[in-house]
Amino acid sequence: MNSEAKSNTNAPTIVPRPDHCISRSQISRNCLKVLYRLKEAGYQAFLVGGGVRDLMLGREPKDFDVVTDAWPEDVRKLFRNCRLIGRRFRLAHVYFGREVIEVATFRAAQEAEDMDDEAGELVRDGEGRILRDNRYGTIDEDVWRRDFTVNALYYNIADFSICDYTTGVEDVGLKLMRLIGEPEDRYREDPVRLLRGVRLAAKLDFAISPETEAPIRELAPLLESVPPARLFDESLKLFLAGHGMRSFDLLRHYGLFRYLFPMTDAAIDGPNGEAVEALVRRGVQNTDDRVAQGKPVTPMFLFGVFLWHPAVARADERRAAGDTPMQALSTACDEIARDQQSAVAIPRRITSPMKDIQMMQPRLTRTRGKRALKALDHPRFRAAYDLLVLRAEVGDADPELARWWTDIQAQGPGDREQAVSQPKPAGRRRRRRRPKKASGETSGQ
Ligand code: ATP
Ligand code: MG
Repeated sequence: MNSEAKSNTNAPTIVPRPDHCISRSQISRNCLKVLYRLKEAGYQAFLVGGGVRDLMLGREPKDFDVVTDAWPEDVRKLFRNCRLIGRRFRLAHVYFGREVIEVATFRAAQEAEDMDDEAGELVRDGEGRILRDNRYGTIDEDVWRRDFTVNALYYNIADFSICDYTTGVEDVGLKLMRLIGEPEDRYREDPVRLLRGVRLAAKLDFAISPETEAPIRELAPLLESVPPARLFDESLKLFLAGHGMRSFDLLRHYGLFRYLFPMTDAAIDGPNGEAVEALVRRGVQNTDDRVAQGKPVTPMFLFGVFLWHPAVARADERRAAGDTPMQALSTACDEIARDQQSAVAIPRRITSPMKDIQMMQPRLTRTRGKRALKALDHPRFRAAYDLLVLRAEVGDADPELARWWTDIQAQGPGDREQAVSQPKPAGRRRRRRRPKKASGETSGQ
């Protein structure tokens, strides 16, 4: 096995059409249109990145990325339905209804970085991180800018061959994530690669090569310098794409999870750790199951699960300081959501329903009177109920209570009225009218 990707002085390996499995029928028609139009205009045009990798693996690509020697302005002239985007690197987006084909121009080689090139500029910060990168180059320069060997395969529309400058084809066969170049340098250039390696290993069920995995743990703190908005995007891809469980295990294994959800990570390693981890795992598994069943998934539920125990702990502190239970939980939810922003910036449109789901937990302990039925009409009832069920499954809430809410949803209006006028089911305490603990009277029992 190669210990490192080939050096950039090598000529590429060309895999001709008969020797690989990618057929044009697997490529989106719109993507083919873009490739052909570029070619007919005299430019080079390749399908690149995850699209080629996924097709070689017999998987359906999430999106198709095109790379060309045409500059963005030239691409725009070829397509009416085209917009130029991006500050760090200019790209063309070609729109076909809801499908967007991203067309990038080859990037220049890294060696040219200090030259004052009129084609653009590349700016680094004190730690070697690339801040701005706007130079255009050729395919044999572009390839070294890519992250992993399996992401650096080029499908050439001119002859349907695959062009491999590194060990991409071999690594697809070996099911191996291997960074191109010196791993430590590549992580320092862009610490998000720490997460991308793990995410793609989780998604594709690949291993990470020993050289590529060796520096991960030590370099994990580099993630602190990544803008929280970018980490939010990456977190969605890690946890909401159907392979969240493997992502979670790998992130914990490499010490990366704490840079995404520091309070959750600390709670997992804290005194009540087993219960916290059990709930988190249930939430992740539940999301994976929904993806597998083709059901919609939302980050407000999963991130609400991640932050549930930290919010409960914070509420306990506030109650000890004299807040009423509901006040304590409300303030705790706000504070936890705010503190989370410094790692992963979760937008308000998500934190606000997340708080609703968390605040409904104590409310769901009330099963008597008309007010109990009102909970069913709350727009977040279903998600709050789902959280209650997960909590009940891991012993953080009363399973009978969860069952009561399951049953009531199946009942008609008459039966519901009757259910809320009945005494509380056996086994549940009748003593309190209001939950004493903001987190729900069954929490932690
Ligand atoms: P996915 O299946 O999630 O779309 P992908 O590999 O296609 O995976 P994209 O984010 O769509 O990921 O990126 C497309 C390509 O751009 C990658 O395959 C890789 O070649 C290159 N790329 C993306 N992000 C980076 C990065 N941080 N550093 C270097 N190259 C990158
Ligand atoms: Mg992609």
